[in-house]
Amino acid sequence: MPFQIAKTIASSTLLECLRPQCLSCQSTMTKLGSICERCQEQLIPSPNRCLFCDLPLTTARVCIVCRSKRAPIDQFQSAFLYREPLPSLINLWKFQNRPDLTHLIASLAANSLQTLLLQNDVVVPMPTHWRRQIWRGFDHIWLLSNALCNQLQRTPPIPILKQIKWRPQQSKISRSLRQRNGHIFEARRSISNQTVVLIDDIATTGETARAAAHAIKEAGARSVALVAITSA
Ligand SMILES: [Zn+2]
Ligand SMILES: [Zn+2]
Repeated sequence: MPFQIAKTIASSTLLECLRPQCLSCQSTMTKLGSICERCQEQLIPSPNRCLFCDLPLTTARVCIVCRSKRAPIDQFQSAFLYREPLPSLINLWKFQNRPDLTHLIASLAANSLQTLLLQNDVVVPMPTHWRRQIWRGFDHIWLLSNALCNQLQRTPPIPILKQIKWRPQQSKISRSLRQRNGHIFEARRSISNQTVVLIDDIATTGETARAAAHAIKEAGARSVALVAITSA
């Protein structure tokens, strides 16, 4: 673990030890590195909906119309709506050097995501470009994927996908630009005839997921599901 991250964790953990607080509303707690019961109750489970057109659905699938347009994603499930306390928690985890929050985030989402995570053959983390990993100091999706597999007692994730092209952060660019992202992922090896579930933190754009799923299907996968902590 890089020194800077270890230092940040050590200092934040020391502060929390002295005066444990809810990571979202800062109310006093007895437990370290968690969110209070009131904040947990504010997490709203995501209803089943199509990733591409938002159509409400009865199961965690992509709608028939979007699938007929050859969207390479067959199933989709996000755990929670993008409402507080989730954005604060994810911001702390990803942008303020708190890889120690991975376990908490995985434990909040594991129950909602377990069906798709357990029924597919291979778990594949959505790759993070090496430049972003260096900047952040850790690969949060890799940690999350391992934590989810560990909590659900299934085989560990396999980093099959590689991001071959640098892109700006997807939430900061227009939809038309995202659609021109093109060929950004590559599979490192064949996964013929297996079913794959991709893990992401925030499914912000169907286009990124579509590009990743396309690379996985080109490597031979029979089907591709996507799970995310939240979708925005
Ligand atoms: Zn709270
Ligand atoms: Zn649809």
